[in-house]
Amino acid sequence: MNPLTQRLSGAATFGASSRFSHMVQPLLVGVIPAHEHARRPRLWAALEEAYPVCFEGREAGALGELDALVAIGTAPAFADVSCLLAAGAEETPDATTPVDAGAVACVPAELAEGEALRERLRPGRNKALLALARFLADLTAHLRPAPPPLHAAFVIDDPNLRRRRYGHIDYLELLSNARAHGYHVSIAMVPLDGRLAHRDSAATRIFREGSEHLSLCVHGNDHDGPELGRPTRDEDARVLVAQALRRTAAFERRTGLTVDRVMVPPHERLSEPAARALRACGFDAVCTTRPYPWIADTLECHWLARPPEAGPLAAWHPVDRVASGLPVLLRAEFGHPREDLALRAFLGQPLILYGHHELLAGGPAALAEAAAQINQLGDVRWCSLGEIARALAPGRTAKDMAVHCPAEDVHDPAALDARALGAIPLPPRRLAPIVRRLASEARDRAQALRLTPAPDPTTARGARPTSSSART
Ligand SMILES: [Zn+2]
Repeated sequence: MNPLTQRLSGAATFGASSRFSHMVQPLLVGVIPAHEHARRPRLWAALEEAYPVCFEGREAGALGELDALVAIGTAPAFADVSCLLAAGAEETPDATTPVDAGAVACVPAELAEGEALRERLRPGRNKALLALARFLADLTAHLRPAPPPLHAAFVIDDPNLRRRRYGHIDYLELLSNARAHGYHVSIAMVPLDGRLAHRDSAATRIFREGSEHLSLCVHGNDHDGPELGRPTRDEDARVLVAQALRRTAAFERRTGLTVDRVMVPPHERLSEPAARALRACGFDAVCTTRPYPWIADTLECHWLARPPEAGPLAAWHPVDRVASGLPVLLRAEFGHPREDLALRAFLGQPLILYGHHELLAGGPAALAEAAAQINQLGDVRWCSLGEIARALAPGRTAKDMAVHCPAEDVHDPAALDARALGAIPLPPRRLAPIVRRLASEARDRAQALRLTPAPDPTTARGARPTSSSART
């Protein structure tokens, strides 16, 4: 242990402002000198929401009844509690000063009005908050639930299971590679595309035999542009989501496969009524690049843009819960900075990278390479999005309900019962979405046959360098 961090017994003093206070007694953490505490009211308040602690400004000579101490600029002559010493306040993002475990070069500056804590834990600016958050996480580990194991998955948007190959994907080759390297791929399939798959097709058999490494989730309904971002009324959103659900159920009956009730919205667009409809119709989660896609709905919007009531902890916990409690599994484009994946791992968030069939233009080696990078971040469990949702947002999930409790025993005011679900009308039949999907599939297959040039997988639409401006 670093000499600056001394873990000794301290008299417990109980804070009052932490959101954990109804469950546990927050630890009292002194900040010296007191004016360094007074300079950062938003920062300390955000950390009090994130960890069961209560901060209090102190002077070096008045350290009684503390459980821990953050000393800024000067070390106390004596402290019989855990102490984190910071040489000073954060002046510039990530100064190059080397940082030892247990000591930090600086503490974070005050959060700007409306700034999310996650903004201080991003590539290029994370050292100050990372050290402080690590200190608080270790300090309060015995007061919080054990952190979830790391979960990971790749998601490939758009393919269907009509044939063994889709575009650059050969499902048999993909399964073989996933088995060899231990990763998992979830195919985000458009429900409209599920209509021609059948139980005995080669692709269906591969998914059935390789369910440990290959799974399916739901990608929109018709894939009619940003269709899930359009509904402005709950009833319209429910019509769309219920049709996706019915098509998915029909696909499952026809093929014997299971599709995770996790929605990957086309073009990363999701209106708030659509999010509520997903919850009402029994989806376990939504998987997207932004926690509030209806606020962060354009490329110009910051990926953490959120409603004021969401507070400073957006994208801080393993999952965000939005719109009546729908869990959000954050995902990132395949080329997302690996530094940010390490930060996600620190936060216990799932490590989900996505792209399109072009990622496999050179075979599945790119996935194996990315899996090896992700595996360096810890003891990673590769699994389906449904399993990730059940692990990180346990409770009322579709599978939990089916396995553990009859629907009538579940009290969830946000959920519709089977009768209400069945009463949601179908939308009018339209030919245009079918034509569009067939054209898209023909384009993807032609690309793989090199009737059109294959893009460089490192610059393909699924491999842009950041997730925060992602579009599907
Ligand atoms: Zn798509």
